[in-house]
Amino acid sequence: MELACLDLEGVLVPEIWIAFSERTGIKELRATTRDIPDYNVLMKQRLALLDQHGLKIDDIQEVIATLEPLPGAIDFVDWLRERFQVIILSDTFYEFSQPLMRQLHWPTLLCHRLITDDSGRVVDYKLRQEDPKRASVKALHSLNYRVLAAGDSYNDTTMLSEADVGFLIHAPQNVVDEFPQFKSVGTLSELKVAFVDASDRPLTI
Ligand SMILES: [Mg+2]
Repeated sequence: MELACLDLEGVLVPEIWIAFSERTGIKELRATTRDIPDYNVLMKQRLALLDQHGLKIDDIQEVIATLEPLPGAIDFVDWLRERFQVIILSDTFYEFSQPLMRQLHWPTLLCHRLITDDSGRVVDYKLRQEDPKRASVKALHSLNYRVLAAGDSYNDTTMLSEADVGFLIHAPQNVVDEFPQFKSVGTLSELKVAFVDASDRPLTI
């Protein structure tokens, strides 16, 4: 039994907070863990910014609905789901990703939750578990699945090392250099070939 796990942002869709920042013109929302290494501090700042700008969950989803998956991503996910059971393992939030997941035809997504109050204000967030990508692959192994995985950045490397075969895609050069154990591909077309080659079944492109 084989299963494919994919990261979402940077692989199939743009970086959501960055795209959201561009769409709303709220520059401070561009901050990532590179600027503010403590994730909880970063998230508190993001939620405060949403409040300051009076953005409720509906407004946020409306803006995100104007974003599109990366070129070729919709076809890629359809292609992959014909050949593998597919699970997206992401550090995004369900409420954020929903408009993009709709465009990707709703593949299974394991990620985190935003907590909203009755008025739709985002008051908090709930991370699903510690080290979620690694823990998910471990859990899938316990169900006797062989796992192929692909991601683009540091937060994917525990998933890639836990998987039977892990690929980097669209990864920045520093990540490629730091993790030479993972084959790196530049495009979703190349990732198709990589998955077909890595499969233990006779698949065709
Ligand atoms: Mg990513």
